[in-house]
Amino acid sequence: MYIVQIASECAPVIKAGGLGDVVYGLSRELEGRGHCVELILPKYDNMRYDQIWGLHDAYRELWVPWYGGAIHCSVYCGWVHGRLCFFIEPHSGDNFFNRGCYYGCHDDNMRFAFFSKAALEFLLRSNKRPDVIHCHDWQTGLVPVLLFEIYKYNGMWNQRVCYTIHNFKHQGFGGPEILWATGLNRESYYFHYDRLRDNFNPFALNFMKGGIVFSNFVTTVSPNHALEVRFGDYSYGLGHTLFLHQNKFRGVLNGIDYDIWNPEIDRFIPATYTAKTLANKAKNKKALRDRLLLQDVNKPIVAYIGRLDEQKGVHLVHHAIYRALFKNAQFVLLGAATERAIGAWFAHEKRHLNDNPDIHIELGFNEELSHLIYAGADLIVVPSHYEPCGLTQMIGLKYGTVPVVRGVGGLVDTVFDRDYDTQKLPEQRNGYVFYQTDPAAIESALDRAIDLWYESPTQFQQLQIQGMNYDYSWNYPGKEYLEIYDLIRHR
Ligand code: ADP
Repeated sequence: MYIVQIASECAPVIKAGGLGDVVYGLSRELEGRGHCVELILPKYDNMRYDQIWGLHDAYRELWVPWYGGAIHCSVYCGWVHGRLCFFIEPHSGDNFFNRGCYYGCHDDNMRFAFFSKAALEFLLRSNKRPDVIHCHDWQTGLVPVLLFEIYKYNGMWNQRVCYTIHNFKHQGFGGPEILWATGLNRESYYFHYDRLRDNFNPFALNFMKGGIVFSNFVTTVSPNHALEVRFGDYSYGLGHTLFLHQNKFRGVLNGIDYDIWNPEIDRFIPATYTAKTLANKAKNKKALRDRLLLQDVNKPIVAYIGRLDEQKGVHLVHHAIYRALFKNAQFVLLGAATERAIGAWFAHEKRHLNDNPDIHIELGFNEELSHLIYAGADLIVVPSHYEPCGLTQMIGLKYGTVPVVRGVGGLVDTVFDRDYDTQKLPEQRNGYVFYQTDPAAIESALDRAIDLWYESPTQFQQLQIQGMNYDYSWNYPGKEYLEIYDLIRHR
């Protein structure tokens, strides 16, 4: 099969969160299974150019229709750890991707509407006719709309689209200018409830809704989250749209790439290890303490790695820091804030706790350091308010770092409470789960985990090993996506 992924991120060259990991990991798995995969990405000025091999211009004269005229683009081509990627660079005064950031601009909707249009124009002009186009999140929600409303009539009649939603919170909105810019000419047609009109704001177009309505298949990133968005209030207003399109909607659990996230071969950690050589993990713990200037004492290390965002339950992350200190544990936090107020809050905590030898707060994004933390910590907390899938708990499991999670979204599909789980046998359980959003809830789980570490090291070690034995690689999800691709090709 010939598959083209259109996305706004691909790790490690462009990574703001889990989306980048998923786009890369899934592509690699599909290629490993003998399929041809290509990726189309924006050419941001701040992406990690050191992670691209052989970058060269592949297509110089791409003219993308935009409003009444066209924007001249160059398309560059290079390999990101073996994946063939095409990067689109527009040459216009808008400077869509030369902003020093991936997201967060006032005209993000225009930037990614343009990217969606440019990606299709590139496929059309370069005569690429994939069997399946797989696009991701609101940034590429317009791809199926443009494909089936415009490009289908220009020669791309045989393509199918699979659309994966990684986060329902960010849906992408715009007014009629989006239609004028992209050439979707019938305003009243697109501003219809059955198409792109937002379910609540009649004057807004909703990119994600367009993606759901026009794609051949829609997935979200875990089976439990698929239920939550259909029947709970996590769909941020798209529940009814999903109900109408339920026959083409499914939850597919994300995987993690065990070529990158694997303590057996990780090149960012000083001592590699497996479940059989778990004792080596202690060397990484020592290295982590040395690097972050934590005191070297007999205490467990609790970690948090992730965006500092309302979604991630920041108030519980904050509480976990003090609870860990109270319970005689150490705490390491690695996170970048998505809002200024949250950033200021944690910067304050960092200053406040600066002299405490049991805690380190690292604000910012640091991929290399994250590997050492996964390998060196004993516990990882994921107290999310909602979590479509969550990768950090799965990475933690692989590294023998026991997850302490809130029971929402994909966390329910991946972590099973050591003491109370009802689905798994005791020898299959792998972490700790709590459900409420108040401090007492996280305390109940964190305390049990820390107590086990102190009181029963062999049982704690057993729990680590049980977690390491889980297979959350792309093996199963890869198979499932291929089934979906097959299904829509023959529909
Ligand atoms: P998200 O909601 O951000 O997509 P996920 O749990 O799905 O959350 O994925 C988070 C990914 O980003 C993981 O690979 C995690 O290690 C990484 N990550 C998050 N924040 C940071 C950071 N500050 N530094 C390094 N890596 C990070």
